Order: sequence, then C-alpha cells, then structure tokens
Amino acid sequence: MYRAKRAALSPKVKRRVGKYELGRTIGEGTFAKVRFAKNTENGEPVAIKILDKKKVQRHRLVEQIKREICTMKLVKHPNVVRLFEVMGSKARIFIVLEYVTGGELFETIATNGRLKEDEARKYFQQLINAVDYCHSRGVYHRDLKLENLLLDAAGNLKVSDFGLSALTEQVKADGLLHTTCGTPNYVAPEVIEDGGYDGATADIWSCGVILFVLLAGYLPFEDENIIALYKKISEAQFTCPSWFSAGAKNLIARILDPNPTTRTTIAQILEDPWFKKGYKPPVFDEKYQTSFDDVDAAFGDSEDRHVKEETEDQPTTMNAFELISLNQALNLENLFEAKKGYKRETRFTSQCPPKEIITKIEEAAKPLGFDIQKKKYKMRMENPKAGRKGNLNVATEVFQIAPSLHVVELKKAKGDTLEFQKFYRSLSTQLKDVVWKCDGEVEGNSTAA
Ligand code: ADP
Ligand code: MG
Repeated sequence: MYRAKRAALSPKVKRRVGKYELGRTIGEGTFAKVRFAKNTENGEPVAIKILDKKKVQRHRLVEQIKREICTMKLVKHPNVVRLFEVMGSKARIFIVLEYVTGGELFETIATNGRLKEDEARKYFQQLINAVDYCHSRGVYHRDLKLENLLLDAAGNLKVSDFGLSALTEQVKADGLLHTTCGTPNYVAPEVIEDGGYDGATADIWSCGVILFVLLAGYLPFEDENIIALYKKISEAQFTCPSWFSAGAKNLIARILDPNPTTRTTIAQILEDPWFKKGYKPPVFDEKYQTSFDDVDAAFGDSEDRHVKEETEDQPTTMNAFELISLNQALNLENLFEAKKGYKRETRFTSQCPPKEIITKIEEAAKPLGFDIQKKKYKMRMENPKAGRKGNLNVATEVFQIAPSLHVVELKKAKGDTLEFQKFYRSLSTQLKDVVWKCDGEVEGNSTAA
C-alpha cells in the first residue's frame, strides 16, 4: 500500500503532447508505436498511436488515409475502437484512441487455446457488427486479424485499426519482398493475386479466417514456405477439425470461398442459422458532432497548427493508476504475481539505479547473441538469427515509481512468444542481483525493505 501511495505522490516528469500526458508504451506494430496516455482535462485514459509523419506524407494513399480518419471520427460503435482526434507535430502524427483494457483476443487464444462454440459465435457476431457498420460508411479494414481484436473490461470485442490500414498498405503491396512484416495468413486470395480488390469481400474473408481460429485454436492456412502458403490460400485448402459443428463448417466454407464474386456477403451472414443463434443487434447512438479540422492540421506542415511536444530525459514515471492497470485485479497484494500462460511481456521491480539495471541487462543479453541498441532508459535487443516468426526483438524500458524503486519492463516487440519466454528465462537467471520482485517465473532475492 505504502509503495502505491509513494508512486502517486512522486513528482511527475512532464511528457506531454497537447493536453495528453504520455505514459508507457503499450505496443508496437510495423508502422506505429502505441502509448498509454491521460487526457489532463478530464483524467480519461487513452491510447495514442504515434506515426512517423514523413513516412505517412510520402504515402501515395495520404488522401485516403485522411478521409478514412475523418470517417472514423464519426464512428461510435460498441465494437469499434473509437478514434477521438488526430494531432501532428513537425515529425509525428498522433492518433488518439479509446484505451481498451482487456488485451488482445489473440492472447486469450494463445494462452487458453480455442473457444467454446457459443463464445466464438459471440465474438464473431460482434466482429460482423463492426465490419458491417464500417463498410456501410465506406471504410474497409484490410488488415483484420486476431491481433487487431481487443477486448474491453466487460469482455466485449473492439476492432482496432479500422480506417488506418491504408497506412500499412504500401508495405504489403510488395508482397513477397516484405514477408518479415508477418505472414499473410488472414489475407484473401484476390489480395495476393492482384492489387485491385474489393475491400468489402476481402474483409469478409479475413473474418472467416478469424472464425476458424476462434473455433480451432489454430490458423486454417499455414505453411513455413510463403509460396506454399499463398497456394493454400488461393485454392482455399483448409480442413475443419472434427469438433466443428455442421453449421459452423457450412458458414466457414461459404466465407472462405476463393472467388470473391461468389463469396458470401455480410447480409447473407446475418441470415445464417448458425450465426443467428443468440444474436443481439448492437445498440448505439449514431448522431453526434465532431470536427475534422484536426485531421488537416495533423497531416499538414503549417507549424502554428502543430501540437506542442515535451520530451524526456529521465525514466518515465509510472503512477499508481498505470501500475494497477497493468495488473489483472485491483489487488495491491498481488501486484507482481504471475499471470499464467504465455506472456509477451513481463515486468520486475528493482531497487538498483536505472543505469545499473540497463547495464546488467545488457551484460546478460550479449552472451545470448543479442544485438543491443540503447537510448536513455530504453533498450532494444534483437537476435540476428531468425526464429520461427522472424528475429526476436525485445523492448526494455525502466520506469520510476519512487526515487529508489523502478519497474523494468521487457516486452516482445517482434518474433515468437515462446522464444521470448525462453529468452526471458535465461536472462532472468543472470539478473538475480537486480530483481527485487517480479511478475512471473523469476526468483528474486528478497532484500526487500
Ligand atoms: P499491429 O500492427 O500489430 O496492429 P498496432 O500498432 O496497431 O500493432 O498496436 C500495437 C499494440 O498496441 C497492439 O498489439 C495492441 O495490443 C495495443 N493497442 C493498440 N491499440 C490499442 C488501444 N486502443 N487500447 C489498448 N491497446 C492498444
Ligand atoms: Mg493494430
């Protein structure tokens, strides 16, 4: 208890973007970094997606991106992550999003395996509601995958990145050249075959792949070899496991039709008997006011319309709220107790000075063959040897809770979760002197006060 209070009272390092105070990094994708932030006007937590402005401005799809962001500002659907506003500075674009606390559906499946049919159906219904609604507004996702399905505190599905996928389009347009950006397991055959495709039917295909994964616990199309994978997708070569019900099999077969012109439509899915079971249409308020001035300002070069940024030269302070939000229950006694299953991130507390923590981690990681890049209280460790899902890349950051108490976060930025676990286990045996208490398997020495 005492520790948490200290954290709340410790002086805050200002790291702001406009009215938002930035916190820890929640995640990182190919194009963007996502950070936790707090709206200082109303205290609301948000997630801010930060993009490199040059990359975006150079993009041939910049007008489309702006248009889709404007549309997304109007969307207030219970199953779509809300987009509140966009800000821009000289070098960056900040997309302010609803902060979704329940994690990714991907984690649930990776940890507990496949879902029961009713549960899978519930998420699939919510997914279809979100997709149907955005399509009716002319916004297509183009990158629907389990990793973009987040869960809120009540366990409802929230689709993220709607309208933002044009940002990653160019990377994918070159297909084979960019396989390191992730295997295209969710991509429709027509997307692989040519660039000119219909966003609506391609999204439906991805929904079919998602439904399969929810029910099976694994992907319908998978192959180590990318050419073989493309072939399987193009021919819709997949096999439903024995536990799929006849209704589910039938619906999946109609969605995973390689021909986009005969593929089932959302209107038909809504009429499907398997889909309809227990279906609740979404309830939401459609009319509300918003302005689009921010979108032009954010993407433009006019400096007087840029947002003010303040930078960091001390470890980020983590306040009690954030600390608690990292943990499952609001139980301070369990603050650093292990969550079971495969985690893509882990944390421990340390009473050592931050510089020493960073040095110790560096010393422990180097013999394991990792390349290291340091920047103040952050560090990147990359294994130059490719693993199952590309090179393992681990992001580390030290946060200050109180003057002599730090939380160290190790997060898998890229690569395979199991390889990350292995890495963390070998690293942790060497960090015994640094670790005070940890979130997971590491044994700490208890020099606790
Ligand atoms: P990706 O390219 O994998 O979709 P993103 O840049 O969209 O990556 O997001 C990186 C991570 O940040 C995601 O894996 C997700 O866990 C987290 N994240 C993204 N948006 C939000 C949000 N609105 N609320 C909470 N977490 C989020
Ligand atoms: Mg995403």
